[in-house]
Amino acid sequence: MLEKIRIVLVNTSHTGNIGSVARAMKTMGLSELYLVDPVQEPDSHASALAAGATDVLYNAKIVSTLSEAIADCGLVVGTSARNRTLDWPLLGPREAAAKVLAEAPNYPAAMVFGRESSGLTNEELQQCTHHVHIPSNPDYSSLNLAMAVQTLAYEVRMQFLEADTQPDREQSEYPLAEDLERFYVHLEETLGETGFIIKNHPGQVMAKLRRLFNRARPESAELNILRGILTSIDKKIK
Ligand code: SAH
Repeated sequence: MLEKIRIVLVNTSHTGNIGSVARAMKTMGLSELYLVDPVQEPDSHASALAAGATDVLYNAKIVSTLSEAIADCGLVVGTSARNRTLDWPLLGPREAAAKVLAEAPNYPAAMVFGRESSGLTNEELQQCTHHVHIPSNPDYSSLNLAMAVQTLAYEVRMQFLEADTQPDREQSEYPLAEDLERFYVHLEETLGETGFIIKNHPGQVMAKLRRLFNRARPESAELNILRGILTSIDKKIK
């Protein structure tokens, strides 16, 4: 189960942090590391801080966009040092870990971490199905990147050790991030065609609709119905 849990670091500046993340992951039994557009690729400084976890570091997959890193994931948890940046389904670290583990047998689940300087952009946060905030001191809320990974990886491990003793629960089938993304593109196109969205002035409609669908979390069969509805509208317009 743990090998289906992916840690995604977006646009990391310091290679030492990447090494420390590899170490944090390996101590908790995680191995899947994705680096989205790192400012600098892992170097000797990263290896030094990875210590005995250089295998995790060397096997890290480097991709250029967040979409590529999460395309085949069903659940994508974005992390934020700020409490409630956007009005999105927000989980505590323990809940997030439980959800990630519950879904990992079906398809990969990702936890996404932002830049040291500025975290994740709103656009990146909107690509996530859920958000998680480690309830830190509100006056000084930002953890070091690797420490944030360590904290969440620890919660995952605790849930893993507990889940080991519990029988499997039944799971609904949820769409992958890439299926959801295709749905949003389709929705935006159709709403553009009907004139509901004015192409040069789209406003916040799509962000609000993404939030709505993330809150509702459609199952695969439900997403197919929504795609079917859009196709029927497309046909009528043509
Ligand atoms: N100045 C940035 C902080 C970035 S800290 C900001 O205001 O967003 C680097 C990354 O560590 C964050 O993007 C997030 O992935 C993680 N992180 C740090 N503190 C966290 C917290 N309290 N809860 C969840 N993630 C946190």
